[in-house]
Amino acid sequence: MTSAMSMFSQEESTRARRQTKPQRSPRRVGIVGGGIAGLVVAYRRMLAGDEVTLFEANGRLGGQLWTDVRNGFVVERGAEGFAFGSEGIGALAGELGVTERIVGQRAHLSYGFDGRSLGVLEAGEAPARLGLRAPHGRRAQGIASFRGGMGELVRALAARIRDRVTVRVNDPIWQILPSGSAWELVAGSLTRVRVDSIVLATGARFAGDLLRRSIGQSTGLEQATALSTVTVSLAYARSSVGVELGGSGFVVLESVSLDGCRACTFSSSKLPDRAPEGHVLLRLFFRPSPAELETMADAGWIRRGREVLRRVLGMGDDPEQAWVDRWPEAMAVLDAGQRQRVAAVERTLARRGILLAGGAFHGPGIEGAVRSGEAAAVALDTVTHAAGARCVRTK
Ligand SMILES: Cc1cc2nc3c(=O)[nH]c(=O)nc-3n(C[C@H](O)[C@H](O)[C@H](O)COP(=O)(O)OP(=O)(O)OC[C@H]3O[C@@H](n4cnc5c(N)ncnc54)[C@H](O)[C@@H]3O)c2cc1C
Repeated sequence: MTSAMSMFSQEESTRARRQTKPQRSPRRVGIVGGGIAGLVVAYRRMLAGDEVTLFEANGRLGGQLWTDVRNGFVVERGAEGFAFGSEGIGALAGELGVTERIVGQRAHLSYGFDGRSLGVLEAGEAPARLGLRAPHGRRAQGIASFRGGMGELVRALAARIRDRVTVRVNDPIWQILPSGSAWELVAGSLTRVRVDSIVLATGARFAGDLLRRSIGQSTGLEQATALSTVTVSLAYARSSVGVELGGSGFVVLESVSLDGCRACTFSSSKLPDRAPEGHVLLRLFFRPSPAELETMADAGWIRRGREVLRRVLGMGDDPEQAWVDRWPEAMAVLDAGQRQRVAAVERTLARRGILLAGGAFHGPGIEGAVRSGEAAAVALDTVTHAAGARCVRTK
């Protein structure tokens, strides 16, 4: 196993240390959630010399970043890429030594489906119609990702922290308890870890529930709203597709009802290396009803995806492979009201040594989650040290 320290150059290490100053005495930091935000916090605090323990409920790290590489297909099960020119991700990739792995969008034309036919959309119109924001002035440049998918960023971070951060996967935190002047994190495995500060890098509802159960105080976070999505990736032999998949994909215009389908990405046209020679990969995005999310089997979603492709593109053949992913309440709705609520809660929690990080609190998207993780790592230098129990007692 390569040691994390040996994997990065002296220069990178010095730069990172300058960004997150070392503590005089190491602080024990507990991170709940191993998505990109939690991983960034873990990495930064590791560099600052802290004793870091990261808990992840799932069996893998990355949260909404999850790439499946199979039979020559690079399939994004979660996020497909970040806005081209995103500074937070660019800087992180540089530091992790994966900048040369970044690939840009190669097809830019997007279409809109009006119920009958496809029409060309203006640059930036497709993300805008889907409620996605791109950095100012960079809409026309589309997205970027890594040659082997967004999972590369997760793997690079995981490799850096492997030897110096305690990473516990398959171990959800279900309670945090005051413990003297510190906190105790209680995990599903019944492991208890004593920490001075906690970073909650989960969904907002879960964070709200956890805080209410643990410190007996409602923060309002448990009322946060988030949208659910189901994605269906379909792989075809190019010869069976019958249409030229020029462009990056189509969005279904708001006025059109197409079985809950919002958009389709022509993954293998949009980004390089997504499908092996002679094959294409498409990905459909659905907004499911709660009942559909709960009860509809994969076969039903695949049928629905095929029906959309038949109606919009006239494709009738069977896919060679299919991937269905359900993301309940994954996309945080961060309106002005929610941002204000989060800011107010953060002021109270910081006095207790608890910070919030991630897309659920400071999104949008991967860039928002990375920036939020970076900010939380810096803020840990200033939050009240070992504030947990003392503050609870004075309530
Ligand atoms: C289908 C889909 C497509 C997307 N596409 C894009 C895109 O193209 N571009 C873009 O910028 N953004 C996209 N996003 C959004 C983006 O992926 C997220 O904003 C970002 O990855 C959030 O990262 P995070 O670390 O804040 O949260 P998450 O990735 O949600 O990580 C939170 C982690 O906390 C863990 N957790 C929860 N409860 C517990 C517990 N009790 N104990 C321990 N761990 C726990 C979860 O298992 C999870 O791993 C997409 C999201 C989805 C679902």
